[in-house]
Amino acid sequence: MMPDAPPAALRLAVDRAALAGNWRALDLMSGAAAAGAAVKADGYGIGARLTAQVLQDAGARDFFVAHWGEAAELLDVVAPARLSVLHGPLTAVDAAWAQATGMRPVINSVRQAALWLASGGGPCDLMVDTGINRLGLPLTDLGDPAIGGLAVDVLLSHLASADEDTPQNAAQLARWQGACAQIPHRRASLANSAGIALGPAYHGALTRPGLALYGGVPRAELAGVIRQVAYPQAALMQVRMLAAGERVGYNATFTAPAPMRVGVVALGYADGYLRCWSGKGLMRAGEAVLPVLGLVSMDMSVVDLAEAPDLAEGDWVEAEYSLPQAAAASGLSQYELLTLLGRRFSR
Ligand SMILES: *Cc1c(COP(=O)(O)O)cnc(C)c1O
Repeated sequence: MMPDAPPAALRLAVDRAALAGNWRALDLMSGAAAAGAAVKADGYGIGARLTAQVLQDAGARDFFVAHWGEAAELLDVVAPARLSVLHGPLTAVDAAWAQATGMRPVINSVRQAALWLASGGGPCDLMVDTGINRLGLPLTDLGDPAIGGLAVDVLLSHLASADEDTPQNAAQLARWQGACAQIPHRRASLANSAGIALGPAYHGALTRPGLALYGGVPRAELAGVIRQVAYPQAALMQVRMLAAGERVGYNATFTAPAPMRVGVVALGYADGYLRCWSGKGLMRAGEAVLPVLGLVSMDMSVVDLAEAPDLAEGDWVEAEYSLPQAAAASGLSQYELLTLLGRRFSR
C-alpha cells in the first residue's frame, strides 16, 4: 500500500478561538438580530467545512454560500434548511436538487421564482436589489404574481458601500424597508460585516457577516473588536550566503548591498502570495522580521535572515498577514487576500 504523503511545507494556521470570538462579537453587535455566517468561496479561503463547524459550535445557525456545489460540501455539517444558496436556481436541475436536499434557494428574479414554484416551491429566501445592481430582484418586479406565490423566509438585500459613509447606505435601507413592508416574510436581512456597524436600523432579524468573521476589518468601528484568524506559514527550505553584489530571483531585482544570509521559503504566487509582495512582504520567525527580497516566484520566496541568525533549514516562518495592514501594503482587498490562499496549504 502507498504510504501517506508527507505533510505540506506550507500550512494555514487557523485560530479557531478568534473565529468563534469574531462571530460572538458580531452577533452581539447585531443587537436583537441573530448573526448568520457567509461561508462561500470555501469559507473565504480558510476552509468551508472547518469554518462552518467552528461557527456552528459558537452559535451560528444560518449559513450562506454562493454555489450549489458549495452547499453540497456542507450537507453533513449544517442542517440543509439553514443553508442558503445565494446564486439561486439557474436551471430546473438546480431547483430539483434543492427540493431533494432541503437546502434553501435565494430567489433573485421572476424567472428563478417561476423555476422554484414549478419544482414544487416551499420555503425560500428572496434577494431584492436596492441599488447594487448585481444579483437580485428589481423592485419594479415585487408585484409579480410569481413573487407573490413564494413562501419567503429571509427577505434580503445587499449593501454596495457599507464600508463607506455614503448616502447610498440610507437609500438602500429605505428601499429594503419598503420591500419588507410589501412582501410577507419571516425574517429580514440587510447587513454584511460592515453593515452591522451601521447600527440597529440595518440589522433586521438576521445579519450576514463574512469578511469580519475571518479577521477582516471593513470599518473603523470593528477595529479592536475583530481578531486575525488566518496565519500563512511555510517552511524554510534552504539557507544561503550572498556576497555583496549578488542578485536574487527572476530578473535580478534585488542586489545584496553587503554580504548577507538569506532563506528560501516554500510560499509563492501559486499559493496566493502574489507578486505584489515582491520586495515588500514581511515574514516573521518569532520576533524577527524577515523582508522579502526580489520577485516572488511561483513556489517560493526569498527572505533576508539578518534578524534571525539561528534560523535553519526546516524551520518555519510566518507571512505577515494582518488583513487591514496587508491590504494597505499590497493594494489587494482584504477579501482577495483571503480568497487567494491556494490549495497547497494544509488547513
Ligand atoms: C458575501 C456576502 C455577504 C458577506 O459580506 P462581507 O462583506 O464579507 O461581510 C453577505 N451577503 C451577501 C449576499 C454576500 O454575497
